[in-house]
Amino acid sequence: MTRSSRIEYLAAMGLQSWVLRAPAATAARQEFTGQELATRDSGMRDSGIRDSGMRDSGMRDSGIRDPAIRDSGIGQSSDREAAYDWAPLRERVAACTRCGLSASRTQTVFGVGSMQAEWLVVGEAPGAEEDRRGEPFVGRAGQLLNSMLRAIGLSREQIFIANVLKCRPPNNRDPQAAEVSECLPYLERQIALLKPKIMLVVGRIAAQSLLRSDLALSRLRHQVHEFGAARVPLVVTYHPAYLLRSPAEKRKAWEDLKFAREVLARG
Ligand code: URA
Repeated sequence: MTRSSRIEYLAAMGLQSWVLRAPAATAARQEFTGQELATRDSGMRDSGIRDSGMRDSGMRDSGIRDPAIRDSGIGQSSDREAAYDWAPLRERVAACTRCGLSASRTQTVFGVGSMQAEWLVVGEAPGAEEDRRGEPFVGRAGQLLNSMLRAIGLSREQIFIANVLKCRPPNNRDPQAAEVSECLPYLERQIALLKPKIMLVVGRIAAQSLLRSDLALSRLRHQVHEFGAARVPLVVTYHPAYLLRSPAEKRKAWEDLKFAREVLARG
């Protein structure tokens, strides 16, 4: 990526001006000194994400404090979908009626990207635009996510993007524990098929759901969690919808992205 296009992507993230501390070898050494650019405020599922301090933990320290999550079976690996390859799995998701969201969805949102991807980005659930188009992160939050990824040299086509829930919760409400519990085996199977080298989980709800945690997002950042039996390295960052509403936090998200890239580079 050229310096000018990197600056362009960073500007889109709301970060400007950067310097390399050391010669290019690791882009991870880039340091950002810019002021936040103009704020774009948000609405939508984008807006449906009320960052907050959710309930969470992290696989390592997991003591599940929220009874709804603890008792739901979330995070206990399920092999319900184990027999299915990509195409039949997609069909099963499309036909799913395991929870009430099937009644209100326009369509399921399976996920998109390269099936050879090293990076798996996981969000919470489709919003209105995703429900309409059948693809994750295609609204305003998705545009910011694209910019964030481009800032670390990744295109949308190189990665795989999915959500914890495959159907939109009405009015962008939070997913219910039972919905997560029913839907998670689909994501777990996607992970088993994809075998990502790194998972970037955006937002408190996705992070808490996957890590069976009730810790605040701020406490789940800055560490490498592991997901599932394959112990896929997992890094948590802010949801782009939250960043649209709180652009001052974009710098922290940038740190998380660099951290995730370092984790992947370390292997
Ligand atoms: N927010 C999410 O968490 N996922 C999407 O696909 C869109 C918005």
